[in-house]
Amino acid sequence: MAHVLILPYPSQGHISPMLQFAMDLTSKGLNVTLVTTSYITKSINSQIGNVSIASISDGYDEGGVRSASSLEVYLDSLEVVGSKSLKELIEKYNQSTEPFTCMVFDTYVPWGDKVAKSVGLPSIAFSTQSCAVSAIYHLVRKEILDVPEPGIIKEMIGLPSMERSEFPSFALKDGSYPTLAAFALDQFNGNKNDWVLFNSFDELETEVKSSRLAITVLKDHFHARAIGPCVPFLPKADGHGNTYGMSLLEPEDDVCMKWLNGKPAKSVVYVSFGSFASIQNKQMEELAEGLKGSGKNFLWVVRAAEQKTLPKGFAENPGENGQIVTWSPQLKVLANEAVGCFLTHCGWNSTLEAISFGVPMLAMPQWTDQPTNAKFIEDVWGTGIRAKAGEEGFIGRKEIMKCIEEIMDGEKGCMIRNNAKKLKESAKEAVTDGGSSDRNLNEFVAYVNAMTE
Ligand code: UDP
Repeated sequence: MAHVLILPYPSQGHISPMLQFAMDLTSKGLNVTLVTTSYITKSINSQIGNVSIASISDGYDEGGVRSASSLEVYLDSLEVVGSKSLKELIEKYNQSTEPFTCMVFDTYVPWGDKVAKSVGLPSIAFSTQSCAVSAIYHLVRKEILDVPEPGIIKEMIGLPSMERSEFPSFALKDGSYPTLAAFALDQFNGNKNDWVLFNSFDELETEVKSSRLAITVLKDHFHARAIGPCVPFLPKADGHGNTYGMSLLEPEDDVCMKWLNGKPAKSVVYVSFGSFASIQNKQMEELAEGLKGSGKNFLWVVRAAEQKTLPKGFAENPGENGQIVTWSPQLKVLANEAVGCFLTHCGWNSTLEAISFGVPMLAMPQWTDQPTNAKFIEDVWGTGIRAKAGEEGFIGRKEIMKCIEEIMDGEKGCMIRNNAKKLKESAKEAVTDGGSSDRNLNEFVAYVNAMTE
């Protein structure tokens, strides 16, 4: 039986979709081992569904990325220590009865590819971002596309017309986060025969104004295939996909679900900025006042490390309509019918999860791919709106109240809900037997199985 090694970047937003992908492969008869850092494997099971979990060292076995002096230092250690440790792991497995057939590496772990090549293991790239964002990074790196100056709207084939602020931030080459920016731009450096898998689906990144799709643009450069959304809970034809395997933080499951279950349908604004983003105090204050002033129920995730940015006393007393938690079981929350709006930072997983559960979005993107995802949410899919920052550079309480009202009660909200419902159906179809992503996955499984013949 083919045995696939899956190597995600060690963070929530990368492990979750790749774990779901791993589960999908096991349901198609492959043997799969997901490899992550020792620090992370301490907080997850050694087996999730039929997927085995194995660990390598990143040089920070006790504290992970947060114990490193900076992200740059961590990334360096992850590559140097991780490469050595990964090579040893592959060699160990290859002397056992379950040698690896190939490796699927996250495009944010490019050194995984180097290790695979050094031991003669076929390797396949997996992107945890949208096809549109990936196409932009690739075309910018190849100097086929240049990012417009402020105030200019760029027309692009297979993509919506966009202004500078809507481009993924690493494409701007403005010198911020140089290591991450280099990762983002360099992630697709293979050739036309190389497979690249995307956590997306063909119908989502569909034609915008021409007949070409973002995925089609990528197909000119690689053997690109969309196999998502890699979102658990999406019913699959074979009944698979109903377990959600891992959360690196402990969700306040009981608090969230009890609170939501007492609320009327579509009455709650769910607020989360994902696992990484840090919001400035002033913005937090405006958000707190905006949520309170909206008069709607709100469930707001503020990670423990971020609670200090809330206005004084707000965490303990967010008003009678509010509930603050440090981490939520997000999929269960989005699947709950009390939720009528998701105020989100537009991380790609959160975006796909909202789409998969048909939840309208209020977009407050921060950086990386989020501004581009927000552009698609509002202007391409029509499943949400973007809150606009004022001249001071933050989004004011009045704007937040206005946007919430528009989505929950306004005429536009009706249209948004309809679009969200249609897109949810389309997501479900894509992963169901015979759907576009299912067919692409079957093609990939056949490719892997052929390696063992
Ligand atoms: N998430 C969660 N509980 C929370 C907030 C987020 O389980 O309270 C999960 C969410 O379901 C998603 C992931 O964390 O799968 C965040 O990934 P995303 O790509 O949206 O953002 P990132 O954290 O990478 O910025």
